[in-house]
Amino acid sequence: MAARLLLRSALRAATVSRASPALVLNRGMAAGGIPTDEEQATGLEKVIMTAAKEGADPYNLMRPKEYAGSKADPHMVPSISNKRIVGCEEDNTAVVWFWLHQGEAQRCPSCGAHYQLVAHELPH
Ligand SMILES: [Zn+2]
Repeated sequence: MAARLLLRSALRAATVSRASPALVLNRGMAAGGIPTDEEQATGLEKVIMTAAKEGADPYNLMRPKEYAGSKADPHMVPSISNKRIVGCEEDNTAVVWFWLHQGEAQRCPSCGAHYQLVAHELPH
């Protein structure tokens, strides 16, 4: 009698353990398959993915655009305030630091390259 009960419970356990992976698989398939990164993303990751789709770069993750540095095409410097310190690399050995203020484009005191401050708002 005891052996029959043990055999029955072992068979029940084996049946349940075989059914479990199928249930998990069915649950995942019912939702339409494996979710994409965009479907799984939340919070900051989702904000960045949404902005990247629209061509925006709110956290400056992409490489900055290059400008000629001339008066017509000055280097654009984003800033959250009305001034920002800028370092202009003269050659590979020296950097000239100066304050860039809001308004018209300013020239580097050493090489004459033009820089212009542009307002930048933090995304949150
Ligand atoms: Zn310079």
